[in-house]
Amino acid sequence: MNGMTRRERQVTDMQEIIKILDNSKVLHLGMIDGDEPYVVPMNYGYTLDGDKLTLWLHGARQGRKIDAMRANPKVFFEMEYGIEPFEGEVACKYGITYSSIMGRGTAHIIEDIEEKKSALKYLMKTQTGKDFDFEDKMASVVGVIRIDVLEYTAKCRPLPKK
Ligand SMILES: Cc1cc2nc3c(=O)[nH]c(=O)nc-3n(C[C@H](O)[C@H](O)[C@H](O)COP(=O)(O)OP(=O)(O)OC[C@H]3O[C@@H](n4cnc5c(N)ncnc54)[C@H](O)[C@@H]3O)c2cc1C
Repeated sequence: MNGMTRRERQVTDMQEIIKILDNSKVLHLGMIDGDEPYVVPMNYGYTLDGDKLTLWLHGARQGRKIDAMRANPKVFFEMEYGIEPFEGEVACKYGITYSSIMGRGTAHIIEDIEEKKSALKYLMKTQTGKDFDFEDKMASVVGVIRIDVLEYTAKCRPLPKK
């Protein structure tokens, strides 16, 4: 990915990255649908193996996003939290705080029932902080997507110093 223009705002500390992953709750998933971009907001779960990030999504087994990612599994995502508008003395000093992650990856539509059940556990853990168990029947009726994240960056814009 390109270098970040406001490099001083880049976040590399894993604890900070985990905070963003835990708190954002919704990601915006960008896909390539034919020759057009297509973006869908979705809840997600995540797992980290060292700094290797995997995202877990669930939803209907049909629809435009499933068709788009079957045809082209390349995806891009963004998530953010800590949104707080702030004021300034002049218009260009107004702004908004945020912590965000963006990255690119490859989407895989999961059919294996054990992997689907694990994915739903990860999703519920990220969304609620609680542990849930899933039966085969529950997992078999939903579509589950794994995003193998190839590259990601994190950024934080804090409140400006007074
Ligand atoms: C905060 C939030 C969290 C969500 N979490 C999930 C989730 O975890 N899993 C999940 O599957 N879905 C989630 N949704 C719904 C999701 O955004 C899509 O509506 C849904 O996944 C269907 O996508 P699709 O491509 O299959 O659309 P289709 O049902 O195939 O519809 C195609 C067309 O419908 C319109 N459309 C579809 N979705 C939306 C939308 N959200 N807003 C406006 N127009 C729309 C668009 O014009 C699109 O081209 C969430 C939505 C929000 C706002």
